[in-house]
Amino acid sequence: MSGPRTGGYNRRMKLLTAIIDGAATLGILEGERVLLPARAGFPLASLMDLIEAGPEAWQALRQCLTQLRGQAGAQVGHGDLRLGAPIPRPRKNIICLGLNYADHARESAAAKGQPLALPDDPVVFTKSVTTVIGPRDPIPAQPEVTQQLDWEVELGVIIGVGGKGITRARALEHVFGYTIINDVSARDLQFRHKQFFLGKSLDGTCPMGPVIVTADEIPDPQSLQLRCWVNGALKQHGHTRDQIFDIASVIATLSRGMRLEPGDIVSTGTPAGVGFARQPPEFLRPGDVVECEIPEVGRLVNRVV
Ligand code: ZN
Repeated sequence: MSGPRTGGYNRRMKLLTAIIDGAATLGILEGERVLLPARAGFPLASLMDLIEAGPEAWQALRQCLTQLRGQAGAQVGHGDLRLGAPIPRPRKNIICLGLNYADHARESAAAKGQPLALPDDPVVFTKSVTTVIGPRDPIPAQPEVTQQLDWEVELGVIIGVGGKGITRARALEHVFGYTIINDVSARDLQFRHKQFFLGKSLDGTCPMGPVIVTADEIPDPQSLQLRCWVNGALKQHGHTRDQIFDIASVIATLSRGMRLEPGDIVSTGTPAGVGFARQPPEFLRPGDVVECEIPEVGRLVNRVV
């Protein structure tokens, strides 16, 4: 489902976190193999270290590629690898957009029996850093805590160059790359506690990855399809062109009074098709498999346990 592996596809730098002998290390996905820069002497051990090191380090990594491709000892098979989230432990909470697709705002209002009111300004909340899990890791069901675990496929934006007062026109220059986030949500907690934080912050409710695609390979982030399946049945099929607040405006709004820093993560909202708004409502149960895909980035596959 990931599209043809043409020359264009292979030019993309897809960065990941490989877990080898229990240690997380930076990897570059190329087709079925993963290049490991550390084994060729590249000094930055993790993807977060790379992001923080800035544009010169990103360029240095790119210049390493030819050497890495020719060095058998610096490569492993993708299928054999355990993958961590690209940023397994963010420095700050993940910044999330609520109701950023009109069709999702509409289904949410209908499910709550409320009139549709599209937001005039972005709805912003966060998820705890402890929610993050890898692209193939299990999602804990925690049935003693929640009976309403729900899915939300989203485009995640990773800030590369920090800044405050970033203009909309220059906002995308601050983006390091893009990933997929499943903003798994405990609806009963989310609605009972008024603020979203607790219902969005249960352990293991932020599957992320499988890679970060560098921003230069996605010149228009408003041109991406997002899909989510549960047990093979398509539940969400949206497109980032339908975002109410596009990524550049979101970065401008967030950074007006709050400095964005390298490695900050912004999850840009989910399209229609979430479980609580379905008729009748559907929620995740142990054994269910949730798959979230953006073809340019890859696919998250997480089983609820
Ligand atoms: Zn969300």
